[in-house]
Amino acid sequence: MPVIRTRVQPDFLVDRDTVMNAALTPTARLVYVLLLASLETEDSGLNQIAALAGLHSTESLLPYIAELESVGTADLKDHAGQGKVITVNETPTLPERRAHMCVPCDDCGMCSCEYTKGICQDCASIRSVRQRSREDIARWKAQLDEGKTYAMGSSTSRLHRWDCRSLMSLEKRVEAMEMGIDAIRHGHSRSYLAWPGLPSLFTAQELREKKIRRKRCELCGPDPL
Ligand SMILES: [Zn+2]
Ligand SMILES: [Zn+2]
Ligand SMILES: [Zn+2]
Repeated sequence: MPVIRTRVQPDFLVDRDTVMNAALTPTARLVYVLLLASLETEDSGLNQIAALAGLHSTESLLPYIAELESVGTADLKDHAGQGKVITVNETPTLPERRAHMCVPCDDCGMCSCEYTKGICQDCASIRSVRQRSREDIARWKAQLDEGKTYAMGSSTSRLHRWDCRSLMSLEKRVEAMEMGIDAIRHGHSRSYLAWPGLPSLFTAQELREKKIRRKRCELCGPDPL
């Protein structure tokens, strides 16, 4: 059962009112401190927290988690796709702000509580790469409509026709992006996610004004400037 936190902090802070709360048992106060301390470390599991609190099993932590839940510093809930998860709050959540249920992601249905409630981090990245692709495709199509038929990519030193076979086609670019999205859906890292940007398009006149002296591609043979 993983422990998640609601906010990432570089240092280890505790809430004074919780630590000094006489209504909590000493063990609950210690469990609160240990849960927060464990967030800063790589692999301290609940077993270790239980042992450090002088308890014999992770099950024996549960009554103390329930105590902390009553003051809004921790809770134990079922989260979509994750099972039971303990959430620790550095500062107590006000009673009216305490969520009683997991908020699944609108796009994939998995728990989104760790990121923006309603959209998980993976789906937010996917939405933003799709948005970037839509904007880039619209820009590219508008340039074509304006009669800009010369292409200059950042990765090529030659001047091409917009539809040169040596340039990655629009379809291939979309395919590459979809493969990255598919990889995320199968549990791979978000680093696979990218939109391979389309080249900038120009008219002959624009290139003459820019005094572009690139070699013309021999494959597509764009008209001389
Ligand atoms: Zn959740
Ligand atoms: Zn999602
Ligand atoms: Zn070419």
